[in-house]
Amino acid sequence: MEHQFDAIVIGAGLAGLRAAIEIGEDSSVAVISKVFATRSHSGAAQGGIGAALANEEDDNWEWHMFDTVKGSDYLGDQDAIETMAKDAPRTIYELEHLGVPFNRTSEGKIAQRAFGGHTSNFGKAPVKRACFAADRTGRVILDTLWEQCLQRDIKFFDEFHVLSLIIEDGRCCGVIAYELATGKLHTFNSKAVLLATGGAGKIFKTTSNAFASTGDGMALAYRAGAPLEDMEFVQFHPTGIYKLGILISEAARGEGGILRNSDGERFMERYAPVIKDLAPRDMVSRCILEEVRAGKGIDGKDYVHLDMTHLGEEVINTKLAEITGFARTYAGVDATREPIPVQPTCHYMMGGVASDVDGRVVLDAEGTPFEGLYAAGECACVSVHGANRLGCNSLLDTLVFGRRSGIEIRRFVQTADTPKASPDYAKKEAARISDLMSRDGKEKTGSIMARMQEVMMDKASVFRLETGLTEALEQIRELQESYRNISLQDKGNCFNRDLLDALELGHMLDLAEVIAMGALYREESRGAHCREDFPDRNDEKFLAHTLVRHTDDVPQIFEKPVTITRFQPKERKY
Ligand SMILES: Cc1cc2nc3c(=O)[nH]c(=O)nc-3n(C[C@H](O)[C@H](O)[C@H](O)COP(=O)(O)OP(=O)(O)OC[C@H]3O[C@@H](n4cnc5c(N)ncnc54)[C@H](O)[C@@H]3O)c2cc1C
Repeated sequence: MEHQFDAIVIGAGLAGLRAAIEIGEDSSVAVISKVFATRSHSGAAQGGIGAALANEEDDNWEWHMFDTVKGSDYLGDQDAIETMAKDAPRTIYELEHLGVPFNRTSEGKIAQRAFGGHTSNFGKAPVKRACFAADRTGRVILDTLWEQCLQRDIKFFDEFHVLSLIIEDGRCCGVIAYELATGKLHTFNSKAVLLATGGAGKIFKTTSNAFASTGDGMALAYRAGAPLEDMEFVQFHPTGIYKLGILISEAARGEGGILRNSDGERFMERYAPVIKDLAPRDMVSRCILEEVRAGKGIDGKDYVHLDMTHLGEEVINTKLAEITGFARTYAGVDATREPIPVQPTCHYMMGGVASDVDGRVVLDAEGTPFEGLYAAGECACVSVHGANRLGCNSLLDTLVFGRRSGIEIRRFVQTADTPKASPDYAKKEAARISDLMSRDGKEKTGSIMARMQEVMMDKASVFRLETGLTEALEQIRELQESYRNISLQDKGNCFNRDLLDALELGHMLDLAEVIAMGALYREESRGAHCREDFPDRNDEKFLAHTLVRHTDDVPQIFEKPVTITRFQPKERKY
């Protein structure tokens, strides 16, 4: 089947929906999502969205900008960070006017809570900057934006899985998508395509991410010739529920929760004397694992305790209800009376499709745009998070840059001509699917996936070494070979999860290779990338973005300078 729109948005998380609202003002737009729109991972965001509203304490956007630059370990582009920090208050008031039910202060203003790495006065003390709706912040924003889209008659194609981008003469002019319910292929012709496909946490064994976070958009862009930027920077959130990785939001510590080792000691006091448990995530995750290495994990195991027992039932039940529910259901722990067992869990991709502040995907270090192709949200690298993202800055990123991409796409489609894809694209995809279905190889998707997740967790997670990364890269390449020999059990056309798992695994193997390559290349420690064989940050050699481009041979690595405007790199102390 064929469809025609001015613009196609792939992804119905916050980035995709915010962009669609903008584009829908005067252009035709369709949102394609492989899961039902409101099941997008944005709906799982718990803790908050950052903006210097100064509703609870003195605050301003320059402090927010400084914290984000410092949090990024000076790898974030400062012009982009400035854009985001300045636009944050407007973004929150816009959400308020659209109907997002934020928590309130006693005076009726939007309430704010503390979050890791957010400080007042350039690092002097923690500041309350995260706006929130209990611990369901992502849920309420996603539902509100979705309702806004419905009111505006924006067309949704839910449970459609995008298989590939249509590229004619270097211009992106549509996508081919697979309808889950019927197995039919659809060709979407458009003047512009926005990738808003979210993260890729599923590459690692322990993750807070949803099953759908398999990095499809990043892999589609990569295969189409767009470089991926800073993929070696993978965030591990310090507080995933032990063994499961399900997230206990940083809001728990923002409200006063404390991490303790087997001695009951508040160990973060030793590592970050000023902001303690509210140090940025890369640091806290490393500190937890240092405690475990020093034999101070609980019961000698690889986890510590998150203690909220002193917060009182009122705070826990009203502001942290969701996560206490998770602790009860998944860890069997009553957080009002006992500590929650936690360990670092793969949470967020700082890297992604290289793109500029207006969502344009760029092809090279000079910023040459990939005509017709845009990216926003977690799948994009703008880069506002650099080597480490601060909590509550991602929801903000999705909305600020989702909107800006929408504005840019609207402008572009006004004058762009309407391309028409040749039928060959759909035929090629149909052949690819039928080839996958008819293979009788010995390998199974599930076992390759498990091996990939295991090797990435063991050798490319919080601590990294040249030897381990080299092994990881070799093993990922072997798994890419094995992948050629997979066979599917389900040959049907109705909700064929077996087929989709195989397609997603192909994407994740591509990205795992890029992550391992970037991590090997970057012989320094910066933000979330900790090379134990190169423990120091090396600004002389590595104050640059890593870009990786797909080629027919091995992927090609090149660099792009970091934009520094106001804050010169300094040692990062908290
Ligand atoms: C548990 C959890 C809690 C979090 N809490 C916070 C928080 O408190 N504050 C904060 O700032 N950040 C938080 N984050 C991070 C933040 O939620 C995400 O980075 C952000 O929501 C990503 O939004 P997105 O719009 O980029 O993508 P997502 O919301 O992940 O949406 C991706 C969309 O792409 C679609 N898609 C993907 N591939 C395809 C394909 N092949 N075909 C069709 N559709 C496709 C999916 O169906 C989905 O609609 C949290 C993340 C997690 C996992």
